[in-house]
Amino acid sequence: MSGRFVIVGGGQGASSAAAKLRELNGDIEIEVICDEPVLPYQRPPLSKKFLSGEMPLERLILRPQSWFDEQNVKIRCNTRVRAIDRRAKTLRLSDESSTNYDRLLLATGSTPRSLPSSVGGDLKGVHKLRSTMDADAIRPALNSGNRMVVVGGGYIGLEVAAVASQLGLNVTIIEVADRILQRVAAPETSSFYRDLHQSYGVEIIEGVGLTRLAEKDGRVTSAELSDGRIIDADLVLVGIGVMPNIELAEGCGLTVENGISVDANCRTSDPHIFAVGDCASFPHKGNRIRLESVPHAIHHAEVAAANMLGDDQAYVATPWFWSDQYDVKLQIAGLNIGYDQTIVRPGKRDGAQSVWYYHGDTLLAVDAMNDAPSFMMARRIIEVGKTIPSEIAADPETNLKDWA
Ligand SMILES: Cc1cc2nc3c(=O)[nH]c(=O)nc-3n(C[C@H](O)[C@H](O)[C@H](O)COP(=O)(O)OP(=O)(O)OC[C@H]3O[C@@H](n4cnc5c(N)ncnc54)[C@H](O)[C@@H]3O)c2cc1C
Repeated sequence: MSGRFVIVGGGQGASSAAAKLRELNGDIEIEVICDEPVLPYQRPPLSKKFLSGEMPLERLILRPQSWFDEQNVKIRCNTRVRAIDRRAKTLRLSDESSTNYDRLLLATGSTPRSLPSSVGGDLKGVHKLRSTMDADAIRPALNSGNRMVVVGGGYIGLEVAAVASQLGLNVTIIEVADRILQRVAAPETSSFYRDLHQSYGVEIIEGVGLTRLAEKDGRVTSAELSDGRIIDADLVLVGIGVMPNIELAEGCGLTVENGISVDANCRTSDPHIFAVGDCASFPHKGNRIRLESVPHAIHHAEVAAANMLGDDQAYVATPWFWSDQYDVKLQIAGLNIGYDQTIVRPGKRDGAQSVWYYHGDTLLAVDAMNDAPSFMMARRIIEVGKTIPSEIAADPETNLKDWA
């Protein structure tokens, strides 16, 4: 196959797709177009070691410029794709030029939800976290003694809280749901992380909403809560989820359904256009889902690349995810959607444990806290479509290897 393959986006999905396309075909023309000023980079350290200052920008970059040169992959940074003309197979770019494609991949990622300006979302000192620029804007305020309010007790909020409290800030997490991590994890995992954060002095307020952020001279000074409490704040991190970047797809009439809708082959409603990663929703066990994780973005992109070149591979999600907070590494295997039972398995290390999610007799997912062996065995069991009875998984004497 020959032709011009264009990738919109400069994140994990775009980078992996470019590499896979080149690995599979040495002749096609490949161009990556990204609106960020830097080469594609990994985002997970933004809320971990990059934010704390332990990891420099160079170590975030997924592939250096020399890789693009050697592989003959053109990359345009600082350039936003504004519109797609599907009939002419052209893209209109932010520098007013246009470019054509034979096959197009949308890997446009997602955007953090923000607080409306009516509650103070646009005040100075109120931050989101998606890019290196966002992390660079937060870091100067991470001074010992400063007071940080984190709005939203999801993984990104909790990770930022962990970094900030270890740097000596006084941190308060506000979660409107009954418990932190409610959307993504079982009560046992929420309890584990509530205890962990509280042991580092982080205050966690659950079941209470934010009413508004107060200000002085345009800068945030406190958070007013729905129960009347006022929490002083020098800075606020808003971590209330993301929205898929669908504007380009919507603008050219592609089907959008909780993200850019793709089939099992990663193909959109236009056979010449594919979509992967955070921005795309795909069929999974009778549902249409969207995943926000690095392993998914990589695997999805690699399957899409093969199919853009004429293959017919079906993407089967075998999700896994991780989160680092303090000295605890969380590794998640599988998807817990639809679980009706959980068990807790104590790990070998002090304080280590895993939470196993079941639907009936079927193992769906496992959250493993400092328990890599349980994570690896559970992942293997789930990936091959097997299960392990819950009472046997709960028994710390069970040798999981026998089941994996
Ligand atoms: C702070 C943070 C911590 C995270 N931690 C973890 C973790 O621990 N583990 C994990 O598995 N996942 C983690 N994630 C999620 C993971 O980083 C994402 O799921 C992954 O980056 C998705 O890759 P992607 O290529 O789909 O999108 P992205 O990496 O978001 O890349 C999309 C790119 O497209 C660009 N773009 C968008 N629209 C246009 C346009 N019109 N023209 C040109 N360019 C455009 C964007 O600017 C961006 O550069 C984290 C994310 C964040 C923000």
